Amino acid sequence: MTHAVWFRSDLRVHDNPALQAACDGDEPLIAYYFHTPGQHRQHHVGDTKLRFILETLVALRSDLLDLNIHLVALSANDYEASVDLLLEQCKAHQVTRVFCNQETELNERRRDRLARERLQQAGIGFQCLRDQMVLDPTKVLTNEEEPYRVFTPFKRAWIKQARRQQLQSCGTPKRQHTIKVASTSIDEILSWQQPTKANEHWSAGSREAQQRLQQFLNQRAEDYDARRDLPAVDGTSQLSPYLAVGAISLRHCLLDALAANRGEWDSGNQGILTWISELIWREFYKYLSWHYPDLSKGKSFNPKYEDLPWNQNEKHLRAWQQGRTGYPLVDEGMRQLNTLGWMHNRLRMVTAMFLTKQLFIHWHAGEAYFMQQLIDGDYAPNNGGWQWSASTGADAAPYFRVFNPTRQSERFDAGGDFIRHWVAELAEISGKAIHDPSPEEREQAGYPAPIVDHRSSVEAVKQAFKQAQATETS
Ligand SMILES: Cc1cc2nc3c(=O)[nH]c(=O)nc-3n(C[C@H](O)[C@H](O)[C@H](O)COP(=O)(O)OP(=O)(O)OC[C@H]3O[C@@H](n4cnc5c(N)ncnc54)[C@H](O)[C@@H]3O)c2cc1C
Repeated sequence: MTHAVWFRSDLRVHDNPALQAACDGDEPLIAYYFHTPGQHRQHHVGDTKLRFILETLVALRSDLLDLNIHLVALSANDYEASVDLLLEQCKAHQVTRVFCNQETELNERRRDRLARERLQQAGIGFQCLRDQMVLDPTKVLTNEEEPYRVFTPFKRAWIKQARRQQLQSCGTPKRQHTIKVASTSIDEILSWQQPTKANEHWSAGSREAQQRLQQFLNQRAEDYDARRDLPAVDGTSQLSPYLAVGAISLRHCLLDALAANRGEWDSGNQGILTWISELIWREFYKYLSWHYPDLSKGKSFNPKYEDLPWNQNEKHLRAWQQGRTGYPLVDEGMRQLNTLGWMHNRLRMVTAMFLTKQLFIHWHAGEAYFMQQLIDGDYAPNNGGWQWSASTGADAAPYFRVFNPTRQSERFDAGGDFIRHWVAELAEISGKAIHDPSPEEREQAGYPAPIVDHRSSVEAVKQAFKQAQATETS
């Protein structure tokens, strides 16, 4: 009898419920990963993240070998093909039970239903454990037994339960018996996707993730609340790529942050408490994608705004993507994204609001572009962030709240140094003019005039939202 563990977006050995459960018995164990480029493309996952997944897989392969577990990685185009391959492998190696960790989005849940069906027909057990969400989403409900739709009461109820349950890590499994299969070679794994320039900025693997977490908690977490909104400052953890591929678990981050705050959920250091709150935002978006599968179909969370008369303007969309809108802070963000595959949260909000509430281009276009560029692209938080910015989402910014990119720039990049770094043609502009250079300065620098006027474009968009509200209530 052999057991198998099927890795997906949980590429780590520490605090991995499926791996731990698979290792609990005495059966020899094989680890599987199925690379599904066709499926990823359908989900708009870009080259940088695909490569990062494979580099993380190489690190996982080595961590598994330390536990005497071989990793078999195969390429399978899409999810359905991955289920066929899994079944084939299970039959070839007399696997009697497969362990994996649940994912919250629709296609992933469909894949797992199919896997359960096919494996059970072949007499093979299938056990799917909770991992992406720290708490069981069916147990965190309102008094009316409904899922929460607003973050603050969700967070309150969530913390109450987390306290009661006393969260614990699953730890790292013991060494296993060997089995006669060979691990897929590193060269083969890496041959599936060439690196992009952005990959140079990110070292993959759980060790790197754990080091980043410790460094952040030791050196920056206590000032997080004061510095997290300043893109020029290294004030956040930059752990999102590692959380997205599961090189580190959310539970692990929470437990270490709590330990750094002496176990306190609601008192102690304000910086750490704010960081914990952000981790719970991640859980909230995963929770929403679990309870509202329509989110995975591209629906607006707020049906009132499903049919807004969005603009179709390829020229504006391209200018936004390339960081040539004429708004220095927006362009700074987009160029950071295009170069690093990552963007600071403040800039994500500013650039997303600019696309949706100034250019009035559908959030779908921005969501897809972010997914293609981001190394941390992750459906639930990406969809949540976009719908928050576009005012169509759960607990979203109200439609009349629109960031003015010039005011945001003066406030969060006051010295303008980060603009000078990313929008290099403005490097010579000194003082406050950097936030909104004059027409002469723009011309000299080869930098475009603003592609839309802030005030009038925002007014038009507010009218469209108002109209949608009026139509709904009439
Ligand atoms: C339009 C838009 C798109 C986004 N797309 C993604 C995405 O694809 N993947 C992604 O992981 N995050 C996304 N976010 C959320 C957030 O911007 C990033 O998680 C954060 O910038 C990552 O940087 P960090 O790891 O340094 O975060 P930190 O500030 O150190 O926070 C720690 C962790 O908490 C979680 N977190 C922080 N802020 C948020 C938030 N607002 N919503 C949900 N989780 C949060 C992340 O997992 C993050 O790694 C998006 C936000 C917006 C506005």
